[in-house]
Amino acid sequence: MNKGEHGTAQPIFCHECGLLLRASPLPEGATAKCPRCGAFLYRHRTNSIERSLSLLFGALILFVVAQTFPFMTLKMEGREQITVLLQGCLEFYRQGLWPLALLVFFATTAAPLAKMACSMWVLLPLYRGRQPRHGGRVFRLAQALRPWAMMEVYLLGTFVAYVKLIDMATLQLDTGLFAFCLLILVMSWADSALEPAEVWDRLKPSTPVPPPPQPTPGQQLVGCHACDLVAPVSSGHTRCPRCGAALHARKVDSLARTWALVLTAVILYVPANVYPVMTVISFGSGEPDTILSGVKVLISAGMWPLALLVFIASITVPMLKLLGLSFLLISVQRRSSWRRRDRTRLYRIIEGVGRWSMIDIFMISILVALVKLGAIATIEPGVGATSFAAVVVTTMLASMAFDPRLIWDAAVQERKPA
Ligand SMILES: [Zn+2]
Ligand SMILES: [Zn+2]
Repeated sequence: MNKGEHGTAQPIFCHECGLLLRASPLPEGATAKCPRCGAFLYRHRTNSIERSLSLLFGALILFVVAQTFPFMTLKMEGREQITVLLQGCLEFYRQGLWPLALLVFFATTAAPLAKMACSMWVLLPLYRGRQPRHGGRVFRLAQALRPWAMMEVYLLGTFVAYVKLIDMATLQLDTGLFAFCLLILVMSWADSALEPAEVWDRLKPSTPVPPPPQPTPGQQLVGCHACDLVAPVSSGHTRCPRCGAALHARKVDSLARTWALVLTAVILYVPANVYPVMTVISFGSGEPDTILSGVKVLISAGMWPLALLVFIASITVPMLKLLGLSFLLISVQRRSSWRRRDRTRLYRIIEGVGRWSMIDIFMISILVALVKLGAIATIEPGVGATSFAAVVVTTMLASMAFDPRLIWDAAVQERKPA
């Protein structure tokens, strides 16, 4: 039952405000948005699965090239250092910073590859008109990996590292880097070509679900958070019969979990800014750099736009995220009815921008891989980098733990007679 092709108006819940809606057919290229909170609901794309699948095959080839060919070469004082994409991870590991090594590996290699593989696992059989094995669970995993695949953030980190080094050394961009840029383009093209709602519509639940429930007054419905399947509470399912996610009306213990993660991030924010994130050692002498002193170095070198970029990504964004989430949590706990639509929009922004704070970590991973010319110049990572990466990851988890529908729940309760 494709929402774009058939007139069957299936009930769906808005995943941001919890409003029960009817999915109506859309013209080609159109997008459905929630009338209450403005959340994006679904689109109509023709040949969504076919186009996305062919792009994914192209992306897989580019992925292999990007991973195996040289990424960048640094030439300085007659010496040469060639790096591949994963060199930064290995360097972190060698310096004993294995949590950072693992994170960079996951964000630049494991998550994008797993996302591609899971999508192809589901799309290929669907394209041939068959049902994939464990299709629902695998596609849920592919969707969950989306925010953790950070190749475009890594590319921006590469750019910052390039500008930082270009004055003191000769840099050569290699095949791996060009393949990496193309890979990012093809992957985002594949993402925008794919309409998840169409895939979910084509995937059959493993156990039969009662016919699409017609919302009648008094009947309680529950929507799956992952695949938007709507089932009556009376059907007795504790797990979604289509994708296997736990079925509950709201994220469990959302406020307590979000608070715990926000407070953890606040505590980690201190060592992240106090301890050095890296040390540049040139001809035997070096000075450790914190995030803020790194920005100052960029300003004194006259690189204003770059200093602003690093300042916004590394200092402003994490702080605004923590303040924004605290504000949302307090307003929900006070059952505030103030500007619900704007608060939902604030949540959407917080969820979207968080991953971009990883720029600094990726930049350091490139610098430590490139600049290891012994006595001439060496860049070593510092412990501050691990704390900073932990801040970014905990704030991302915090925004995932927060349930934006809680912003609207007070409104529903107000309207209901007691
Ligand atoms: Zn909504
Ligand atoms: Zn589901």
